[in-house]
Amino acid sequence: MEGLIMDYPLTTTTILKYGNNAFKHKKVISHLPDGSRHEYTFGDLYKRCKQLANALINKLGVDKGDIIGTFAWNHYQHVELYYGIPGIGAICHTINIRLSLQQIEFIINHSEDKVIFVDASLVPLLEKIADKLETVEHYIVINAPKKFSTSLLNVIHYEDLLENQLEEYEWPVLNENDACGMCYTSGTTGLPKGVLYTHRSTYLHALTISTPNAANYNSSDIVLLIVPQFHVMAWGYPYLCLITGSDMVLPSSHLQPEAIISILQEEKVTKANGVPTIWMGVYEEMKKNPPNPKLALQEYLVGGSALPASLIKNMEDDFGIRGVQAWGMTETSPLGTVSRLQTHHEQLSEEKKIQIRAKQGIEFPGIEMRIIGNDGSVAERDGKTMGELQVKGAWVIKSYFKTNNRDNFTKDGWFRTGDVSTVDDYGYMQITDRTKDLIKSGGEWISSVALESALMSHPKIKEAAVIAIPDEKWAERPLALIVKATAEELLSNEELREFLSRDFANYQIPDKYIFANQIPRTSVGKFDKKEIRRRYAQGKL
Ligand code: AMP
Repeated sequence: MEGLIMDYPLTTTTILKYGNNAFKHKKVISHLPDGSRHEYTFGDLYKRCKQLANALINKLGVDKGDIIGTFAWNHYQHVELYYGIPGIGAICHTINIRLSLQQIEFIINHSEDKVIFVDASLVPLLEKIADKLETVEHYIVINAPKKFSTSLLNVIHYEDLLENQLEEYEWPVLNENDACGMCYTSGTTGLPKGVLYTHRSTYLHALTISTPNAANYNSSDIVLLIVPQFHVMAWGYPYLCLITGSDMVLPSSHLQPEAIISILQEEKVTKANGVPTIWMGVYEEMKKNPPNPKLALQEYLVGGSALPASLIKNMEDDFGIRGVQAWGMTETSPLGTVSRLQTHHEQLSEEKKIQIRAKQGIEFPGIEMRIIGNDGSVAERDGKTMGELQVKGAWVIKSYFKTNNRDNFTKDGWFRTGDVSTVDDYGYMQITDRTKDLIKSGGEWISSVALESALMSHPKIKEAAVIAIPDEKWAERPLALIVKATAEELLSNEELREFLSRDFANYQIPDKYIFANQIPRTSVGKFDKKEIRRRYAQGKL
């Protein structure tokens, strides 16, 4: 028997309207790329989103189901796009500005973006590939200085687009299972793959992570959104802040430790997010120049790479600021687990407590996880048995956009994460390894297989294997082990860097190259990465 409750769609517009009704006076503060500060309220945001909706339809001819790209920093205009585009039934596709130009070109053509909203400071990147972009009809430039010229065609300035548009718009009733957002994952060895979020998944994800056991935000919080809006929908924060009535602070391109600390100070930020590399930099800078007066920051939520126990301890001992670890993936919207202590941990020593907090944590309600051991069965939750982490839930991908990757899914409906983990008897998951042949540096992926095939196309190289090595600042960096075509070949690190820079973004290029006579192999002849990592750790490479 069906229940007798209204069929009320959970959409991003539901969140936008709620933010306006319940928290009209709360603030959106942006530190813009040119150094200026902009502030308005959730009420202003609401009006501007309606102007944007009118402009999308009337000036740009955007229809329901169209995919609209954004190539931009974190600021209020990008938040308007997060609501305005899905609000009319189109899809907000956030493009990662840190990818290589080839990947960006592929992603834009593959998703068939009709319009791209681009920050003026990022226009030079798009200019380099614009003639290869097949579907883009307009470029809308955000934050353009007075004197601005570009070789892009069909350019409109963002403020001109919104000018004279009505502040009234009747939001259509949308199907909550329609797509609202899109993000490509560059994490795998092949081409980037698109993940298409639904209104429902976005709503449930944001609502759930705002709860006390998760991010724990409320209307007295001032939240700094460091995670880029071009990265997995900024972990849902632009939605979560309107749900919880938290003031939103957006740093745009000001992501150096000194700049972050100054924004934390100026805006009296209470909570923030970010990858470990960011917080490591902030900690080191604060050690050198302790902020005076003390920061109002109580807590930072970390994901993307493991939060080191040492950082949790140091930040808390030296500055009284709590680090909370979360785990997730582009494919899981992204947050899937979070690690906070519970009452049964109270009797543990401080050191043990930090060990628990350095685990990736328990599932959010709405997500289920399991570990599949080597024998193919579901592993015990004993904190020891390792296996592949698989997840399913209300905001987990069921298939990729226009790509048939059934290998990523099990026959019984679970998503294979490619992470290797344990789960303890209290349900705390801990990542121990990764089956995907990848390196994660400063929160961004580097494909070791792509680097290897590029290196092996170099005429002076016979073989090359790339592994991740630990790095204090970036969490991981790539290292290339190289066998030269002939022992006499002269091959410098500079030559290799220059060669790779044709296909790879700067951060993806290894800093370290080791030359060897041969590369260790497994019994079936594959590069034995475990053995290479072991030898490196022992200083025997
Ligand atoms: P992405 O799709 O780029 O967000 O990357 C997702 C991957 O990042 C996961 O499958 C993990 O390998 C890694 N990852 C994310 N969060 C954490 C974390 N807290 N600890 C360790 N690895 C993480």
